[in-house]
Amino acid sequence: MKYFILGILFISHFSNAEEFKVIERRDNSTKTYYKQVKLKDLLSATHFEGKYFKIVYKKSNEPIAFNDPDQDLVQKAANVYYHLSNAKDSWINSLQVHTPETYPQLTIRMEITNTFSELGHFSHDNLNPQYNNALSIPAGETPEWVPVEKYDRWGKEIWFRPKKVVSTKELENDLGPNPVSVALKQMQAPFINYTINRFNHSLINHLFYADQVTSSLRADFTRFIGTIALSYFVVDASRRLDPLFMEKWFYLDTSMVPEVIYHEYAHLILSDYLEMSHSTPVVEGYADYFAAIMSEKKVVYAKVPGHSNAQPKDPHNDRFYHHMDEHKSRATSDFVLSVLWDVRETLGKEIGDRVIYESRKKLNTKTATISHHMLKAILETCSEICPSPRRDRLKLYQTFSKRGF
Ligand SMILES: [Zn+2]
Repeated sequence: MKYFILGILFISHFSNAEEFKVIERRDNSTKTYYKQVKLKDLLSATHFEGKYFKIVYKKSNEPIAFNDPDQDLVQKAANVYYHLSNAKDSWINSLQVHTPETYPQLTIRMEITNTFSELGHFSHDNLNPQYNNALSIPAGETPEWVPVEKYDRWGKEIWFRPKKVVSTKELENDLGPNPVSVALKQMQAPFINYTINRFNHSLINHLFYADQVTSSLRADFTRFIGTIALSYFVVDASRRLDPLFMEKWFYLDTSMVPEVIYHEYAHLILSDYLEMSHSTPVVEGYADYFAAIMSEKKVVYAKVPGHSNAQPKDPHNDRFYHHMDEHKSRATSDFVLSVLWDVRETLGKEIGDRVIYESRKKLNTKTATISHHMLKAILETCSEICPSPRRDRLKLYQTFSKRGF
């Protein structure tokens, strides 16, 4: 009997050569599960080459084989292919955006460490290898003066970089210090001096003018010490606000996080107006928004055991606007995502998604700010397509003012 069952297992394993294990998040949970799936629209019975996507290794232009000896790579390629197909279907069927149908087959690069070069597609192999991220590449061609043998021409691409475990201390040196901490630290020294001066003043009052002082010395002291302690706490907490600084070690295998795949695909779709060569809080927030609606989870980019320990982003974060949110270094924060999510909750899913998608046409990639250009673009788009423009714009004004704009 045992042999018989084993036999069946083997037969089903080999007869389903085109089934692959991919990552899935179920219901409203951020946990990940593995499931067996067949891939859609494949043009090959042996390689990851389909009508819409071709998955290649590093700089190669040949698709990865299903039986590649590196089975980790096969799993990653399958996961990327599967979630890109889902993202494409979701744009077409749920959002009624048909641009994906007009794209030629997209090349998706796995494990690539080269930086992108607008002049030659890939920078030199040994130059500054990159890990732990993914990016979308605009189409291009080498300029005329480049020697013929180095000629290259490429369409839009998505690149997934390898995972590398790095200490967050190292990252801090790479990225520069967290700007919120810097601002607070600059504030801290004068603030402490001011507090100590105030306490000294109070002490003098208590010692020499006791009859004129209403509060007790102990109460003053407690309050001042409390304020100093709080300022330290805020500085420390601000470091923790930045997802990258949460853990001692950081790693992110972008090809195994479904929402990262949706995010990169969204960059491609939005790139008719929001250029892929710019990573600003507005540009990243728009890609996050479409990744979030495709994931339909309470938080996005949640951890994937063994593949990513990055901190998730929260579309329901209701933090107040701060001018620091416009800073390029805050492009990875979830602030813009949460403002766009408010728009969705104010206007309803269908109109909200449409308004946000259409509003990209009114944004200049390089210079668009959140507080001025993005809000203006959303309000103007609402004037054009909301069912009751006057009422809906009023609702949006109220929503924005609740966020401190
Ligand atoms: Zn991005």
